[in-house]
Amino acid sequence: MNKSEIIMDELNRLFENPKCELNYKKDYELLLAVMLSAQTTDKRVNMVTGPLFEEYDTLEKLNSLTLKEIEEHIKTIGMYRSKARHFKSIVEDLIAIGGFVPNDRELLMKMSGVGRKTINVVLSNLYNEPCIAVDTHVFRVSKRLGLASEKDDVLKVEEKLMKKFPKDSWSRLHHQMVLFGRYNCTAKNPACSNCNLKTICKEYEKEIN
Ligand code: SF4
Repeated sequence: MNKSEIIMDELNRLFENPKCELNYKKDYELLLAVMLSAQTTDKRVNMVTGPLFEEYDTLEKLNSLTLKEIEEHIKTIGMYRSKARHFKSIVEDLIAIGGFVPNDRELLMKMSGVGRKTINVVLSNLYNEPCIAVDTHVFRVSKRLGLASEKDDVLKVEEKLMKKFPKDSWSRLHHQMVLFGRYNCTAKNPACSNCNLKTICKEYEKEIN
């Protein structure tokens, strides 16, 4: 097996049914939740969006909220003021285009606070589009495993992963790498001693030499 196959094999063993850990029932709830999750944990976002989406269960109801009210609802998450502005703007944009999240990268890219990572997560979850969203976990794990180099930016990491792994594995791999980074290969104190990938891991090799 080559390195990519070894990684896929181990991630499939660890995370048989990987899925997004942000809670959502509607397409626009996922888009808003992913935007809110920047530099914040999914758990914290779920604590905010749970009651908010329950009480305001349509785009129209969310649109009735003032900026101050949105800030009040989401104030426990990081950068809540700018995220509240993005929130309001995204809700208005979605209503203007008919009330659904389009499978249209360019249209989504024009929305406030919506970047490439958010679009990749949304399109892969809602439309099964093959995408590798590079979040902080995927970024870190890719570099540690030597799938990307230290100097690579987010886009370069995404390109390298797309070259190294088969297209039909991309979305699944994204979820698995997020979970692996969140629970195994954590930013601080990664669980290297129990990790089956240590024989091919650049970071581990550095640590023991
Ligand atoms: S050996 Fe350690 S650093 Fe390398 S992938 Fe495993 S947990 Fe991460």
